[in-house]
Amino acid sequence: MAMRKGDIEVFLSENVFMGLILSSVEVYKKECFGLLLGYRTSQKYIVEHAVPYQSAKRGHKWIEMRSDKWKVIQEVLENFPKLDMIGDFHSHTMYRDVKADISLSEDDIIHTYPDELQIVIAVNENRRSMVWTSNPDHTISGTINGFHFKLAAYYFPTEETDTLKKESGPPRLARIVCPFVLE
Ligand SMILES: [Zn+2]
Repeated sequence: MAMRKGDIEVFLSENVFMGLILSSVEVYKKECFGLLLGYRTSQKYIVEHAVPYQSAKRGHKWIEMRSDKWKVIQEVLENFPKLDMIGDFHSHTMYRDVKADISLSEDDIIHTYPDELQIVIAVNENRRSMVWTSNPDHTISGTINGFHFKLAAYYFPTEETDTLKKESGPPRLARIVCPFVLE
């Protein structure tokens, strides 16, 4: 797949990939929520850890829970100079008979900050097995154990001026690169 100039890439280590899959399967059909740790350069997000939020209360808006814990996590992370909080992840699951998809809800958009990555894992049941592939829309998808997963990584393009950094458009999909997935 050709890489356009200006495209943002997201590297998911095998550990991170596994963390995302296991978190979303563990609580299925509920949705999982967690934190992404790693670092970023101007063109890339390198995700080193995907840490599920243990205090996530189902049915509560995840963002309320997040703001409580955010400061504590941030303070702890000051002891790990190589790691930053670079975003969040959460899963989408089937609602009644509507299949889960990767599109961001209004809430998801409101609560994603400029510069932050938002990984969405859409989980559906699927008996037919499919190999993992990178898709033209920059997502990756495939099956494991009767579940079909589609992972998308959103970021908000930002505009930087001397004094401030602000969003300059709707969320875009960064290209996911993961060793588990064949190109
Ligand atoms: Zn969502």
